Amino acid sequence: MKIAIYPGSFDPLTLGHLNIIKRAARCFDKLIVCVMVNSQKKGLFSPEERVELIRRVVKQLPNVEVDASALLLAEYARQRRARVIVKGLRAFSDFEAEVQMAVVNRKLNPNIDTMFLPSNEKYTYLSSTVVKEMVRYGADLSDFLPREIIEDVKKKMDDSRREN
Ligand code: ADP
Repeated sequence: MKIAIYPGSFDPLTLGHLNIIKRAARCFDKLIVCVMVNSQKKGLFSPEERVELIRRVVKQLPNVEVDASALLLAEYARQRRARVIVKGLRAFSDFEAEVQMAVVNRKLNPNIDTMFLPSNEKYTYLSSTVVKEMVRYGADLSDFLPREIIEDVKKKMDDSRREN
């Protein structure tokens, strides 16, 4: 069984991420979308909340599983018996850091390789950070976020603004 992992922070999942998930899911028997937990970085959503939002969005994709992990990616891949890490590339600026990470991951786990999928041209400008800015300015989010999670993101941003 060909298993791949699509790792990221997904804080929150955007239409750019979803596009990569759908395309990668067609290439493998199983795709594991993994929220990488970074204890140094406090996100907008907790890792558990991100997992719940992604699950809601991908529930029609039978070979996509959603998980969270605080392990090193190379170790997580070993445990899940995955041979491939999928990464989306938006612009040339993503390239250098991603290639560096791919080399490090392969050094840590020689059984894994990284595959890059070019971002759909509609989403090259899109990141979770851009989405959060858009929410702040009350922009229409339907071009940026899966519709199933738009209200959750708006509400979370409102709540976090009230706390600060
Ligand atoms: P960000 O916070 O920058 O959105 P993530 O860590 O959540 O990034 O991204 C996880 C993976 O998804 C990375 O491989 C990243 O390059 C990719 N990605 C992020 N946004 C897009 C997009 N709009 N189109 C294609 N790939 C993307």
